[in-house]
Amino acid sequence: MSLRIKKGDTVKIIAGSDKGQSGKVIVVDPETQLIKVEGLNMISRHKKARSAQEQSSIVKLEGNIHISNVMLVCPSCGKATRISVAEIDGKNHRKCLKCGFDIDSKKPDSKKSDKKVRGEKTEKTAKTEKTSRVKRTRKSDAGNADN
Ligand SMILES: [Zn+2]
Repeated sequence: MSLRIKKGDTVKIIAGSDKGQSGKVIVVDPETQLIKVEGLNMISRHKKARSAQEQSSIVKLEGNIHISNVMLVCPSCGKATRISVAEIDGKNHRKCLKCGFDIDSKKPDSKKSDKKVRGEKTEKTAKTEKTSRVKRTRKSDAGNADN
Protein backbone atom coordinates (compact mmCIF):
# COMPACT_ATOMS: atom_id res chain seq x y z
CA MET A 1 0.00 0.00 0.00
CA SER A 2 1.37 3.40 -0.88
CA LEU A 3 1.87 6.03 1.73
CA ARG A 4 -0.66 8.79 1.96
CA ILE A 5 1.88 11.28 3.25
CA LYS A 6 5.16 12.25 1.61
CA LYS A 7 8.06 14.44 2.63
CA GLY A 8 7.36 18.09 1.79
CA ASP A 9 3.61 17.74 2.15
CA THR A 10 1.64 20.05 4.38
CA VAL A 11 -0.39 18.17 6.95
CA LYS A 12 -2.88 19.07 9.64
CA ILE A 13 -2.61 17.31 12.98
CA ILE A 14 -5.92 15.84 14.11
CA ALA A 15 -4.94 14.35 17.47
CA GLY A 16 -2.72 15.16 20.45
CA SER A 17 -1.54 18.41 21.96
CA ASP A 18 -0.96 20.15 18.62
CA LYS A 19 -4.39 19.16 17.30
CA GLY A 20 -5.64 21.58 14.66
CA GLN A 21 -2.22 22.92 13.73
CA SER A 22 -0.61 22.33 10.38
CA GLY A 23 2.96 22.22 9.13
CA LYS A 24 5.39 20.81 6.62
CA VAL A 25 6.41 17.14 6.74
CA ILE A 26 10.20 16.88 7.16
CA VAL A 27 10.70 13.15 7.83
CA VAL A 28 8.69 10.10 6.75
CA ASP A 29 9.46 6.57 7.90
CA PRO A 30 7.55 4.20 5.60
CA GLU A 31 8.15 1.19 7.85
CA THR A 32 6.80 2.56 11.09
CA GLN A 33 4.43 5.01 9.35
CA LEU A 34 5.77 7.74 11.61
CA ILE A 35 6.39 11.26 10.40
CA LYS A 36 7.86 14.47 11.76
CA VAL A 37 6.27 17.83 11.13
CA GLU A 38 8.32 21.02 11.17
CA GLY A 39 7.81 22.91 14.43
CA LEU A 40 5.03 20.65 15.69
CA ASN A 41 4.70 17.95 18.36
CA MET A 42 7.93 19.22 19.91
CA ILE A 43 9.67 17.09 22.48
CA SER A 44 12.39 18.15 24.92
CA ARG A 45 15.75 16.45 25.04
CA HIS A 46 18.02 17.19 27.96
CA LYS A 47 21.44 17.59 26.46
CA LYS A 48 24.37 17.34 28.83
CA ALA A 49 27.53 19.39 28.26
CA ARG A 50 30.38 17.22 26.99
CA SER A 51 33.08 19.89 27.18
CA ALA A 52 33.82 22.99 29.28
CA GLN A 53 32.72 25.31 26.45
CA GLU A 54 29.38 23.59 26.06
CA GLN A 55 26.44 24.27 28.32
CA SER A 56 23.90 21.72 29.39
CA SER A 57 20.62 22.62 27.80
CA ILE A 58 17.17 21.44 26.92
CA VAL A 59 16.83 21.00 23.18
CA LYS A 60 13.47 21.04 21.47
CA LEU A 61 13.08 18.48 18.70
CA GLU A 62 10.28 17.39 16.44
CA GLY A 63 8.66 14.24 17.80
CA ASN A 64 7.19 11.37 15.82
CA ILE A 65 3.56 11.49 14.79
CA HIS A 66 1.74 8.49 13.35
CA ILE A 67 0.30 9.21 9.91
CA SER A 68 -3.14 8.21 11.16
CA ASN A 69 -3.04 11.31 13.37
CA VAL A 70 -2.63 13.73 10.50
CA MET A 71 -4.58 14.73 7.43
CA LEU A 72 -3.07 15.94 4.20
CA VAL A 73 -3.69 19.59 3.43
CA CYS A 74 -4.51 20.05 -0.23
CA PRO A 75 -2.16 22.58 -1.88
CA SER A 76 -5.00 23.67 -4.17
CA CYS A 77 -8.00 24.20 -1.94
CA GLY A 78 -6.09 24.48 1.35
CA LYS A 79 -8.39 22.11 3.22
CA ALA A 80 -7.43 19.08 5.28
CA THR A 81 -8.68 16.33 3.06
CA ARG A 82 -8.84 12.62 2.40
CA ILE A 83 -7.25 11.46 -0.82
CA SER A 84 -7.70 8.91 -3.53
CA VAL A 85 -4.71 7.25 -5.18
CA ALA A 86 -4.64 6.44 -8.88
CA GLU A 87 -1.81 5.12 -11.00
CA ILE A 88 -0.88 7.31 -13.97
CA ASP A 89 2.11 6.36 -16.18
CA GLY A 90 3.32 3.92 -13.53
CA LYS A 91 3.36 6.55 -10.80
CA ASN A 92 0.93 6.96 -7.95
CA HIS A 93 -0.95 10.22 -8.09
CA ARG A 94 -2.88 11.39 -5.07
CA LYS A 95 -6.05 13.31 -5.65
CA CYS A 96 -7.84 15.63 -3.26
CA LEU A 97 -11.32 14.23 -2.61
CA LYS A 98 -12.68 17.74 -2.04
CA CYS A 99 -11.56 19.60 -5.17
CA GLY A 100 -10.14 16.80 -7.35
CA PHE A 101 -6.69 18.40 -7.56
CA ASP A 102 -3.85 16.02 -8.54
CA ILE A 103 -1.42 16.61 -5.67
CA ASP A 104 1.50 14.80 -7.35
CA SER A 105 1.13 16.38 -10.78
CA LYS A 106 3.20 19.54 -10.48
CA LYS A 107 6.22 18.21 -8.61
CA PRO A 108 9.20 18.31 -11.01
CA ASP A 109 11.66 15.40 -11.18
CA SER A 110 14.76 16.00 -9.10
CA LYS A 111 17.88 16.71 -11.14
CA LYS A 112 20.28 14.30 -9.51
CA SER A 113 21.73 12.86 -12.74
CA ASP A 114 23.46 15.89 -14.28
CA LYS A 115 26.56 16.53 -12.22
CA LYS A 116 29.62 17.67 -14.13
CA VAL A 117 31.97 18.20 -11.21
CA ARG A 118 34.31 15.29 -11.96
CA GLY A 119 36.01 16.92 -14.99
CA GLU A 120 36.86 20.09 -13.02
CA LYS A 121 38.38 18.07 -10.20
CA THR A 122 40.84 16.26 -12.48
CA GLU A 123 41.89 19.60 -14.01
CA LYS A 124 42.68 20.98 -10.56
CA THR A 125 44.83 18.00 -9.57
CA ALA A 126 46.76 18.37 -12.84
CA LYS A 127 47.48 22.02 -11.97
CA THR A 128 48.81 21.18 -8.50
CA GLU A 129 51.10 18.58 -10.05
CA LYS A 130 52.53 21.23 -12.38
CA THR A 131 53.22 23.70 -9.58
CA SER A 132 55.04 21.08 -7.51
CA ARG A 133 57.22 20.28 -10.52
CA VAL A 134 58.06 24.01 -10.92
CA LYS A 135 59.11 24.17 -7.25
CA ARG A 136 61.45 21.22 -7.74
CA THR A 137 63.16 22.85 -10.75
CA ARG A 138 63.60 26.06 -8.77
CA LYS A 139 65.37 24.13 -6.02
CA SER A 140 67.78 22.58 -8.48
CA ASP A 141 68.39 26.08 -9.98
CA ALA A 142 69.38 27.31 -6.52
CA GLY A 143 71.80 24.43 -6.22
CA ASN A 144 73.42 25.39 -9.56
CA ALA A 145 73.81 29.00 -8.43
CA ASP A 146 75.94 27.83 -5.50
CA ASN A 147 78.48 26.29 -7.83
ZN1 LIG B 1 -8.31 20.19 -2.71
